[in-house]
Amino acid sequence: MRPLPNIPATALARRVIRRLRELGHEALLAGGCVRDLLLGREPKDYDVATSALPDAVEAAFARTVAVGKQFGVIRVLDENLPEIAIEVATFRHDGPYLDGRHPSSVAFTSAPEDAARRDFTVNALFLDPETSEVHDYVGGLADLKRRVIRAVGIPRARFEEDKLRLLRAVRFAAGLGFDIADETLEAVTAMAPQVCQCSGERIRDELARLLTAKGASRGLRLMLQTGLLDAILPEVAAMHGVRQPPEFHPEGDVLVHTMLALDMMDQPASLTLALAVLLHDVGKPPTFDDSGDRIRFHGHDKLGAQMAGEILLRLRFPGEVIARVASLVQDHLKFINVPKMSTATLKRFLRKEHFDEDLALHRLDCQASHGKLDTWCFARDKLAEFARQPQALRPPLPLDGNDLKALGLPPGPVYRELLTALEDEVLEGRVANREQALAFVKGRAGLRG
Ligand code: ATP
Ligand code: MG
Repeated sequence: MRPLPNIPATALARRVIRRLRELGHEALLAGGCVRDLLLGREPKDYDVATSALPDAVEAAFARTVAVGKQFGVIRVLDENLPEIAIEVATFRHDGPYLDGRHPSSVAFTSAPEDAARRDFTVNALFLDPETSEVHDYVGGLADLKRRVIRAVGIPRARFEEDKLRLLRAVRFAAGLGFDIADETLEAVTAMAPQVCQCSGERIRDELARLLTAKGASRGLRLMLQTGLLDAILPEVAAMHGVRQPPEFHPEGDVLVHTMLALDMMDQPASLTLALAVLLHDVGKPPTFDDSGDRIRFHGHDKLGAQMAGEILLRLRFPGEVIARVASLVQDHLKFINVPKMSTATLKRFLRKEHFDEDLALHRLDCQASHGKLDTWCFARDKLAEFARQPQALRPPLPLDGNDLKALGLPPGPVYRELLTALEDEVLEGRVANREQALAFVKGRAGLRG
């Protein structure tokens, strides 16, 4: 094993372990961080497992938060490093799972029993950071070497306890580039529909991690193979086998295109972009039309945006995420028209909030199909050009509602119409000052009688 990374989180985890040991407790690094350290990856966060009971953990440190005291989990913070937290969990043994989601009780026990309640062998290792000794009670080291995700114990029984593990198996296999052991894969496939017994929130969090990590497309393929995709995202599963016109999509069907685009995302991927990539063509299966000169998907952008909204709401994503993804899906075809747009329309499009993600989605959409990037380059270059001109995208208007009132126009919806038309003129560069603006507005209002 390589030496532990020399970062503040590692140092804090070591200090926590040393302190617990001074007090006579057993304490070890546990779970995902051990797996990642042994693979030479930098852990996302550090978990410590200990024989100390939660009260003793709280008493041992100045700053703690009882994040899950009933499960024995106490978060330890450092005064000087407020952004880092170490989760310290008492070794525990889970009582029977009666609802397929939570243990009915937990009992505090020893490291071997704590390993046995964990989901996969590679997630059930303990590491002594002082000696680098690994405590392996479930064959996790061998599976790390073989690069295999294997349930601890009897797969069906373990998935029966907590159905989220079905999706976690795929998430870890995809993210780590591991295979799933035969018996574990069989159980995932047999039990896939039951994943829906988990709350939307738990599925959402696993899905978000799967989609934003490297290996997302493999995750999607494994979900398709096992039936998890049908259970969680039937609208995405429906993209499988949906033919596309080969001149625009030489890569294959709609799902193949989507998976290629996911693979081409820059890492670390933004969640909203990843969701938009996943769902940008979700409107294609229901709009498939093979009756004309070529296959068409008329209105798939609009329908797709609506479907994306419904899917993400079902998965309990926050409103902000839903709105942004739906808008990305809705606008993903606009780029085709970018070279033909009037300057005003183009500027309005380019100044859209988070436009960088619209641009990124379009690039991925092109790269994962015909490969031509002319419309992407055009939009990117225009954006750069306008960025060099002060206020080109949001020029201040030379007039406002008060000026219209002063002209004697009765207030009403016509104000917004006039000001929008005026903004068009300003964006086009045809109106540059107050005098020209007044002339334009008077002419326009006069025409309306
Ligand atoms: P990541 O780096 O993606 O966070 P991780 O292994 O740390 O991976 P977490 O979801 O943070 O995954 O969980 C931490 C550890 O807790 C796991 O490694 C595993 O040992 C255990 N664990 C988490 N969720 C479950 C579960 N549903 N069933 C059994 N064990 C679990
Ligand atoms: Mg973790």
